[in-house]
Amino acid sequence: MIELSACVGLGANLGDTRAVLSAAYAQLQQLPGTCRHRCSPWFCSAPVDAGGPDYLNAVACFDTTLSPQALLEALQAIEHGHGRERPYRNAPRTLDLDLLLYGQQQIETPTLTVPHPRMHERAFVLLPLAALLPDAVIPGRGPVSTLMASVAGQSVWRAD
Ligand code: ATP
Ligand code: CA
Ligand code: CA
Repeated sequence: MIELSACVGLGANLGDTRAVLSAAYAQLQQLPGTCRHRCSPWFCSAPVDAGGPDYLNAVACFDTTLSPQALLEALQAIEHGHGRERPYRNAPRTLDLDLLLYGQQQIETPTLTVPHPRMHERAFVLLPLAALLPDAVIPGRGPVSTLMASVAGQSVWRAD
């Protein structure tokens, strides 16, 4: 089986966000068909295009033999276990897990777009990703280090 490096964005802004992010990362580490897990430092960010409390964000990477679709379904099951609801677009959430990168593959299906289609314009994704993988390149978008310049005005800061 081919093993590829996947990156997942973690975000939460409802409830005990630190506890939820810790638990979610532990669950990622326990996913079958995954190994060599690593996680970025945690960052805080102000909500974009929405109200509600500030977010806690991180990016996790791991090697995996799971298919992209199987990985998406595993992420959604973890979200569901933390009470994720989707009352409206960009609503505050207990947990959001986005599949950011899957190797250098570009994937377009009705349920999955990889690289995540908005990751390159989000400081709350790029800062943790750059902290974890400074040399990362987003297929079709470019090096994370270059993309960071265009999100410099966004309100993102390291968690204590
Ligand atoms: P955004 O996608 O802008 O970050 P969101 O995370 O709030 O917004 P969700 O409600 O969590 O959006 O997801 C909506 C749908 O996006 C999901 O049902 C899923 O099928 C689809 N989707 C497409 N590509 C991805 C991806 N790379 N990671 C996660 N979900 C994806
Ligand atoms: Ca998201
Ligand atoms: Ca999502």
